[in-house]
Amino acid sequence: MPVRLIIDALDFARNAGAHHGKIALSELDRLQGYLTSGSGELQYAITGALDINARPLLKIAVQGSINLCCQRCLGEYGYALDLRAYLLLAQNENELSRLDEDESVECVLATPDMDVVALIEDEIILSLPLSPRHGESECSIKQDSKDTAGERSLFAALAALKSLH
Ligand SMILES: [Zn+2]
Repeated sequence: MPVRLIIDALDFARNAGAHHGKIALSELDRLQGYLTSGSGELQYAITGALDINARPLLKIAVQGSINLCCQRCLGEYGYALDLRAYLLLAQNENELSRLDEDESVECVLATPDMDVVALIEDEIILSLPLSPRHGESECSIKQDSKDTAGERSLFAALAALKSLH
């Protein structure tokens, strides 16, 4: 059974709410598309607070290991997720667009029925490397002088051919 944790975001922040637990990767449908295997679980914590200017915010921490697909060799590689995010809560659309102009903060629109798991999933997806790849010594394909997009798409095409058989 997927766990849904719903909070009233502003209430949660003002009352210094705190919640932590585990989420099975299999419950994170959108994240699955980035993973080579969907088993395992992540630990998360979410706390509510006010910042020094008394603005409500949510602090999110997520830890665990996930398996991403190396963009160079298309092999699996373990990625240690250790995410910390501070999300300022905007109380309406106007405030959201005003806060969005400040690139040093991340903000979300506060709702009275905020889905914490979906929020955490968003943060995880945003934190993933754009082009995940093994370290130089771990990859089965050695880096050479021309690591181009063309080369990568050739590997992708080869992998697609292989999976047809
Ligand atoms: Zn690799």
